[in-house]
Amino acid sequence: MTDQTAAGKGPVREGPVAETPATGEPAAGEPVAEEPVRYEERGAIAVVTLNRPRYRNAQNSAMTYALDAAFARAVNTRDVAVIVLAGAGDHFSAGHDIGTPGRDAHVSFDRQAVLWWDHVGKAGADARYAREMEVYLGMCRRWREIPKPVIAMIQGACIAGALMLAWVCDLIVAADDAFFADPVVRMGIPGVEYFAHPWVLGPRFAKEALFTGDRFDAQRACQLGMVNRVVPRAELEAATFALAERIATMPAFGLALAKRAVNQCEDLMGMRPGMDSVFGLHHLAHSHNAEVSGDSLAGLDARSMKKTGE
Ligand code: ZN
Repeated sequence: MTDQTAAGKGPVREGPVAETPATGEPAAGEPVAEEPVRYEERGAIAVVTLNRPRYRNAQNSAMTYALDAAFARAVNTRDVAVIVLAGAGDHFSAGHDIGTPGRDAHVSFDRQAVLWWDHVGKAGADARYAREMEVYLGMCRRWREIPKPVIAMIQGACIAGALMLAWVCDLIVAADDAFFADPVVRMGIPGVEYFAHPWVLGPRFAKEALFTGDRFDAQRACQLGMVNRVVPRAELEAATFALAERIATMPAFGLALAKRAVNQCEDLMGMRPGMDSVFGLHHLAHSHNAEVSGDSLAGLDARSMKKTGE
């Protein structure tokens, strides 16, 4: 989601990937300029950590590109067999950045996911479509194709755009305090940009989650098949790494082919063309909002989304 409007050409920046260890601890007094993603290797496992705990790991574009760089590094490191995606602090992620001081929807980045023109300097739907196809739908599809197994390790909030990150991972291990929601129908938008809902939740519950915007917990997500395992919060890291280490003993090429096999079958079940068609509805909603209220997010920011029940 973004209320991107045509803005002046900003500086081209790439999110840096720091090499400091992922402790999982919130960084008290974290400066705004904190590296948005941390990367470390623990034996055959690469740990990629969303690192804006002060803002519940809200995803700005700097974080998106830092994530992409971290994933590419893990793919290109021969000794890395499995990737764990984590969130620093008490929450995995609150979703896309729609209101922190580090919001950067007006900034140009070197595009990685799709071959399309820059959104900066464009107006209206032209700008929104270009940006969201690159940083949201395109990036998520690119990460879904990472040829090594990726495990999401989720605690606390996993809301809206955070679901997209979790869903592109192959496996999800959730703490018993994890909760999930896609509340964007409150903005008049029919779900986040990577529209995997019917495939990962089943059509019936996908509609309930969208129609109500309500949270559902880790147990419910596990019953639906969206989450592989639910463990006590204190055991989340140990359980995730035990699973990662078990998988890391399998042949790398076999894992890559098995991943591709399942992904190809999901696409044959309609996921890819389904997402393409819904991406158009998503942008119809943004445009409608912009047309009637002057704001593609219908005037709702993170705070007002929270007030409406999230
Ligand atoms: Zn959007």
